[in-house]
Amino acid sequence: MILVVLEHDGQRLRKGALEVVARARQLGSLGPIAGVVIGENTQVVAQEAARYLPLVYAAEVGPYTAEKWAEAAYAAVQRSGARVVAATGGRQSRTWTARLAYKMKAGLLEDTLETSTDGQHILGTRYSYLNRVTERQKAPLPVVFTAKPNTTPPAEPQEGGRVEPLEVSLPAGVEVLERLSEQKKGVSLTEATVVVTGGRGLGSPEAFAGVEELAGVLGAAVGATRAVVDAGWRPYSEQVGQTGKTVQPNLYLALAVSGAVQHQAGMNKSKYIAAVNKDPEAPIFKIADYGIVGDVHQVLPALIEALKKL
Ligand code: FAD
Repeated sequence: MILVVLEHDGQRLRKGALEVVARARQLGSLGPIAGVVIGENTQVVAQEAARYLPLVYAAEVGPYTAEKWAEAAYAAVQRSGARVVAATGGRQSRTWTARLAYKMKAGLLEDTLETSTDGQHILGTRYSYLNRVTERQKAPLPVVFTAKPNTTPPAEPQEGGRVEPLEVSLPAGVEVLERLSEQKKGVSLTEATVVVTGGRGLGSPEAFAGVEELAGVLGAAVGATRAVVDAGWRPYSEQVGQTGKTVQPNLYLALAVSGAVQHQAGMNKSKYIAAVNKDPEAPIFKIADYGIVGDVHQVLPALIEALKKL
């Protein structure tokens, strides 16, 4: 049995959840697949999930804490008898998957790019050294693994499944008193097919109006470098890179971004990379498919105008 922990936003499954379902289907020789929806409004989300999986548990445990997620996932493991647990890779899952692996006495493979099985082990690949190296890993069952987002096409619906509520005895631990969610505008950065990122070379927070306009024309999400975030020009939620988000859009447009290795770690797997920079020696040009050497304050308005005419 394989158990998939399904990421959702309280209303719907996230794309990453369907990617993990697709991964679990690839390991079909290990037996049937069940899912678990953990958190709030789980019955509704589990109904959606049942279009993809034969059995979905709904664990209503309230707002997120790592302890609760680990406990709920473990309850689902015990109920289902799963020997493999799969979840979406990212900041949040990193906090509870290790706890779950400890409870299960299981191996943990994080941020895998692809996974397979020989019946006794899970074999996975993942990036290492700022995405410069791909390493292969192998862990004997039982195994908890996470799938790096945007590495697997999302699963298609199958025959309808059933939903079962899952009782979880919650640990006395951290209690959430208040949650301040970030103001979400426009397209989600990690799910966008086009990302327009502005760097310090833009010169001011006001110059991001042009970045936002271009993003609007392209239906893109706005990203930022750490230099920009540290300067307080943009929120941390927009930071791309080693200590920010990892994105893998079809097109990544870097405006006045130097292309430091730490920035590249979050975007160098984009399908196409285009850059605008006044310095022809800027490192971003070494990984760019298309480049314009020029002043961003001239190129950006010209780009917007040209694209609006299309
Ligand atoms: P700069 O390096 O200042 O580059 C600005 C660029 O704009 C230059 O290439 C310049 O030629 C160009 N420019 C200037 N004016 C113009 C103009 N008018 N027109 C066109 N081009 C112009 N960085 C991240 O982005 N994400 C991370 O997650 C991250 N994590 C880090 C983790 C660690 C541990 C460390 C040490 C660093 C990290 N950094 C990260 C920082 C990283 O090393 C760089 O300092 C940062 O990415 C630089 O941001 P930038 O390209 O906006 O700025």
